[in-house]
Amino acid sequence: MSLLQLKQVEAYYGAIQALRGVDIEVNEGEIVTLIGSNGAGKSTTLKSICGQVKMKGEIWFNGKNITAQPPHLTALGGIAHVPEGRRIFPRLTVKENLEMGAFSVKSKTVIKERIEKAFAYFPRLKERYQQVGGTMSGGEQQMLAIARGLMMGPKILLLDEPSMGLAPVIVDQIFEIIQELNETGMTILLVEQNAYQALQIAHRGYVIQTGEITLQDVAAELLRNDQVKEAYLA
Ligand code: ATP
Repeated sequence: MSLLQLKQVEAYYGAIQALRGVDIEVNEGEIVTLIGSNGAGKSTTLKSICGQVKMKGEIWFNGKNITAQPPHLTALGGIAHVPEGRRIFPRLTVKENLEMGAFSVKSKTVIKERIEKAFAYFPRLKERYQQVGGTMSGGEQQMLAIARGLMMGPKILLLDEPSMGLAPVIVDQIFEIIQELNETGMTILLVEQNAYQALQIAHRGYVIQTGEITLQDVAAELLRNDQVKEAYLA
């Protein structure tokens, strides 16, 4: 069943058009990856889903038209956006960062349960729950950013380049956790420049080039595709 659908999405920064008729569909239970080079429009695609950029076209989520819905409503509606560059609260502890992620959840019990669940995926965060976010390594901060995204109990996770700037061994860990999250039911839209690893864990993928989707297929086919190999897997 289709959970998220972008229909002919155009996005604008002032006079600059960053997306040109983007169609993307994510079904419940899938990992879908959006790959492309610097400036292709990957982050803008996620921003358009979250109402952070001026756009045309339509966004549908969970049967509702959520086009241009403001970001806090998108979050309340079940979409967790983990932006590029992590953006955790650097002066707050791990625990406080997680609590901030559950900003609209009233029940202390639910918050506690979700923190425990996050710690089960990210044992490293449990060891460091009193540590101030800004003093953690890049990989730990990325884990915290994803864990914080889970605190609202979302139906979909939008991940913007979770592998960026991390050492290969940490990248492997992050991708493993993403796959694990998916295996336990989370739907994921994964934006990546690291096309090879993203396609390894995704079910399907889209290639974006200067604001347009130029290819879409099941991930295994994209990994075999000559154009993809030449442009993104070299
Ligand atoms: P990267 O991996 O480098 O972030 P990306 O694929 O995510 O690349 P976007 O950030 O979505 O690319 O950018 C798409 C286009 O929109 C680029 O040409 C970029 O210069 C432009 N753009 C992005 N943000 C802004 C902004 N705030 N103002 C003006 N132009 C912008």
